[in-house]
Amino acid sequence: MSGIREAVIDASAIAHNVAAIRAAVGTAHTMAVVKADGYGHGAVTAARAALAGGADWLGVADIAEGLELRAAGIDAPILAWLHDPFADFEPAVAAGLDLGISTREQLERIAASPSGAASIQLKVETGLNRNGFAEYDWDEVFARAARLQRDGALRVRGVFSHLSNASDADDARAVQAFERALAAARGAGLEVPLRHLASTAGALRRPDARFDLVRIGIGCYGLSPFGDASGADLGLRPAMTLRSRVALVREVEPGAGVSYDLTWRAEQPTRLVLVPLGYADGIPRAASGRGEVWIGGRRHPVRGRIAMDQFVVDIGDAEVAVGDPVVVFGDPAEGYPSADDWAAWSDSINYEVVTRVGPRVARRS
Ligand SMILES: *Cc1c(COP(=O)(O)O)cnc(C)c1O
Repeated sequence: MSGIREAVIDASAIAHNVAAIRAAVGTAHTMAVVKADGYGHGAVTAARAALAGGADWLGVADIAEGLELRAAGIDAPILAWLHDPFADFEPAVAAGLDLGISTREQLERIAASPSGAASIQLKVETGLNRNGFAEYDWDEVFARAARLQRDGALRVRGVFSHLSNASDADDARAVQAFERALAAARGAGLEVPLRHLASTAGALRRPDARFDLVRIGIGCYGLSPFGDASGADLGLRPAMTLRSRVALVREVEPGAGVSYDLTWRAEQPTRLVLVPLGYADGIPRAASGRGEVWIGGRRHPVRGRIAMDQFVVDIGDAEVAVGDPVVVFGDPAEGYPSADDWAAWSDSINYEVVTRVGPRVARRS
């Protein structure tokens, strides 16, 4: 490895995961969601790998994220759906980004764009109460969007929403609400080619939510959105291995304490190693005294508090030397702890574990 902190990104795993999900889902279109720097994997790396795996759309939250992909020379269709209330839409329209629209104000501003007719996708509210037009607005908004499209002011390419994944019944209600939105759009004379509702969870387990396109985020990275199935159970391979190397080895006597607040003390003579990764790098502090890492072919426990830059691991009498590789998480098929393990140790979810890997960690693919 090249640095003391690195996230090795397996682009072929991302391509494999997209291809595997496409084969299972069978929708006409597949959007790979690469927001938040590709869930921490590197947005450009993730986008290129996902396109190689058969994705034909890319999804991001912010316009800036879409522009970063365009600047890297990626010309695939891109949808950005979460906007600063004072966002300047011109760079996005000029770069050919599709814009997810959730308010009348956004609709009117984009219709007035001097950069030409923008391609938009109307977001509708179906239960999450995040963004999207509420049902009482649908008739009016669809009529207005149809009018603007007839006038050549914009093009309505999609209608979409998002599931809560709270329960089968909640998602079924959301599918019904979405069907009502599509009927309202048709009633207003809008024939939209892209109707989409499902993210990874809905795509894999709710055929009635697939429509024309599925938006796949976590699955691209080889991780599962489900509590009752691992990535491997879904035929996916984790794309990120978070690695470091042993910075120091020391022997301690019984009673020796470790790290801030001395929350752990040795009960017998043992050997401790220092790992130069901390919560600034995304190692969850909540996993202090609970996590495990792989060193020299097996897993060893983290002792004491995880600090900003470092944590301590108890290796007992294992043969470990300064400079030996440490794997914090990676593919459990290789014996490494997984992002799911770190999620369990920190009362979180695998999404947060990979997305929070910090800027000091070099991404290598
Ligand atoms: C993040 C996001 C997704 C991707 O969700 P996953 O669970 O990671 O597949 C899809 N759609 C929207 C609107 C999102 O915000």
